[in-house]
Amino acid sequence: MLIRDKFYINGQWTAASSKETIDVHNAGTGEVMGSVPAGTETDMNAAARAARAAFDSWSQLPVAKRAEYLAKISAGLKQRAEELARTIAQEVGMPIKLAGRIQAGLPIATFANYAKIAAEFAFEDKVGNSVVLREPVGVVGAITPWNYPLHQIALKVAPALAAGCTVVLKPSEIAPFNAFILADVVHEAGLPAGVFNLVTGFGPVVGEALVKHPEVDMISFTGSTRAGKRISELAAQMVKRVTLELGGKSASIILDDADLAAAVKGTVTNCYLNSGQTCTAFTRMLVPESKYAEAKAIAAEVAKAFAPGDPMAETTRLGPLSSRMQLERVRGFINKGIEEGAELVAGGAEAPDGVPPGGYFVKPTVFGKVDPKSTIGQEEIFGPVLSIITYKDDEDAIRIANDTIYGLAGGVWSKDEARAQKVARRMRAGQIDINGGPFNMNAPFGGFKQSGHGREAGKYGLEEFLEYKSLQLKA
Ligand code: NAD
Repeated sequence: MLIRDKFYINGQWTAASSKETIDVHNAGTGEVMGSVPAGTETDMNAAARAARAAFDSWSQLPVAKRAEYLAKISAGLKQRAEELARTIAQEVGMPIKLAGRIQAGLPIATFANYAKIAAEFAFEDKVGNSVVLREPVGVVGAITPWNYPLHQIALKVAPALAAGCTVVLKPSEIAPFNAFILADVVHEAGLPAGVFNLVTGFGPVVGEALVKHPEVDMISFTGSTRAGKRISELAAQMVKRVTLELGGKSASIILDDADLAAAVKGTVTNCYLNSGQTCTAFTRMLVPESKYAEAKAIAAEVAKAFAPGDPMAETTRLGPLSSRMQLERVRGFINKGIEEGAELVAGGAEAPDGVPPGGYFVKPTVFGKVDPKSTIGQEEIFGPVLSIITYKDDEDAIRIANDTIYGLAGGVWSKDEARAQKVARRMRAGQIDINGGPFNMNAPFGGFKQSGHGREAGKYGLEEFLEYKSLQLKA
């Protein structure tokens, strides 16, 4: 059992103000794997005050010194990479091999990358008779979800610290242990007291206390559109800066000249990553009407290779969902798809065979002939459920792809890259992969429309934590 009963506040492990705790469940078995404290407003006040007190000196530190701390954090995480992968594979359910590469590997790389970006970034510029400064926004409240828990934390904490901000982190109560490992690492790296603080608890309690706190200058949030709206409303009362990374319903457009087998395989694999619990997942596969039968057959075949299994086994490709609530939600969507008349090509709502008992497993599912306006054609399911939608021509494909409240990501597949780019440029989403172009940690990441605003990653992510200031010099 992993028991964490203290918060990291002002450079010390500090007793929680309440005895209330939150059980954390192992996604692969459904058993309780440990607990963390349920924080209160009192705990959040202490964390926010500590971050405020630390801000002046941290923001004045030469950037090279801040970069050194970030490099130390990266090295500290690297030393605990295996523990991180194991912990997150249990909390979230991502298969251990992938968890090592993605859930542990990305945060290690992100902290190291921001050490480099900060050292190279131009914090000062000149325009006419003005010196333009880029100064840290102040105390940052970071609120994060469970699906890529430490990656999402790193995308906020690393650039915020690099910018000269101090941070209060409120991680997801569903996958919080990785954040405690980060706090251990931060402590060992010797960051000055108060620069990084960690408080766990429920969103409506400690999350809202953080958003409303007068000493907090900015909220960087990743999570559901529902919580993002609530946070924006609260933050608006104090004209607080907010960045939001929210949900998605990303379209993968397979053009008629694409290598169909590669495109379908790429789309299904993308959709099923982390059991579909990926905000950028290609959950809508758009295929030309004439290619539907072939695309459907390939998708069913690819889905078969994703047999759900124990996330701790090296060979597993599809783990469980992260929680019972998530399991019920996803099964509900699968039933809804059947009710609404979509063609069930693979999978279904019933429990899969041959999986460890108690885990939150769901069958990899493919729906065909999905009405783009239907529930499964519009809503974010956050499970391994692919909707195949047919289109008439490129214009029709672009129209369907954009006909959603979201705009986070997407894909285009074609033998003709120029044609693919032409389509990609008309898609209203923040990140489009052409022919399965690989992830780039320096490219801006974030959404259009109700997928949020603000960008993470690379220098773009750093800029979110900076204010402009201009000094007018006498000529
Ligand atoms: P969630 O919104 O329920 O929770 C996210 C975080 O917000 C948690 O720490 C939670 O405690 C906190 N929270 C909840 N209500 C709050 C409130 N009223 N005030 C303050 N904080 C509150 O989301 P989740 O279930 O953890 O994550 C899944 C969602 O996150 C999906 O919709 C997914 O698409 C989205 N997501 C988006 C991105 C992205 O970068 N765009 C990345 C990952 C996940």
